[in-house]
Amino acid sequence: MVFTRTGVVEMLDIAEPEPQDGELVIDVAIAGICGSELHGISQPGFRVPPLVMGHEFAGTTPDGRRVVVNPILSCGTCPTCSIGLPNVCESRRIVGVHLPGGFAERVAVPEASVRDVPADLTWGRAAVIEPLANAVHAWNLVPSSAERVGIIGAGAIGLACLLAGRTFVADRVIDVADTSPDRRRDAEQLGATRVGEALDGQYDAVIEAVGLPVTRAGSVTALRNGGTAVWLGLSSSDSGMDGAALVRGEKRVVGSFAYTPDEFDRAVDLAAGVDTSWTTVHPLEAGADVFMSLMATPSTAKALLVTKGYLDA
Ligand SMILES: [Zn+2]
Ligand SMILES: [Zn+2]
Repeated sequence: MVFTRTGVVEMLDIAEPEPQDGELVIDVAIAGICGSELHGISQPGFRVPPLVMGHEFAGTTPDGRRVVVNPILSCGTCPTCSIGLPNVCESRRIVGVHLPGGFAERVAVPEASVRDVPADLTWGRAAVIEPLANAVHAWNLVPSSAERVGIIGAGAIGLACLLAGRTFVADRVIDVADTSPDRRRDAEQLGATRVGEALDGQYDAVIEAVGLPVTRAGSVTALRNGGTAVWLGLSSSDSGMDGAALVRGEKRVVGSFAYTPDEFDRAVDLAAGVDTSWTTVHPLEAGADVFMSLMATPSTAKALLVTKGYLDA
């Protein structure tokens, strides 16, 4: 499935991947469609066509290992990597963004990006490791003292944050806000303390998983003074917020991008116990239709594309 031009993905026959030194070819079993891709192909720049996208995927290695790919490739030597932030490496590359990704039957990836998954982990759970890793990183940016946490947005990332939160801080308040009743129902089923159209009350921390000016601003107003908003959403460039109110309330806003290798490994462990009722499975051959229809009509469920031969596995 190739992003061929602004706003368009197509199913095409492409050349077999040719692994370079230090790479191996993954037989892709499953790949999740990310919201950032649905937005991204309408605003090329970060992703440049022609491109096989897909950064949330799992499959098998030539020697038969079941693996998931950590798509964040860091240099390991720049000043940012050196202080322990490889997720924002200055020469960071991402599989499925800067290199061909998982929306194909086979893809060459660096050997170092591959992680084994447990033999009994379903492909459906392996496919949500990457969104869960984003959630693990976000929670590591939430102050550990936070008792009342709000999540804005119950799409895949917001729900992953809820699921990870329920594992890390089972006894705390985790309220979820979304304008869609279907998404609110998902959040309720997955363990939100309370759900609503917007957060009300004063939260110690708010995780913003939408990225629109109105939700970013809302994440800050929902904080008590001194609280922390962690922003993961990327829908827009604008922040929409009142800078003076931020100062007067001594609030903090922290950006959260991707995850470290340790956080990715933590997500591999988390995936084993995770409810995947918020995902739907489609054959890879139908990928372009699924993708284009999700662009036209956003769905509450995360779409996973499964390669022929893996549908029943
Ligand atoms: Zn993503
Ligand atoms: Zn680096």
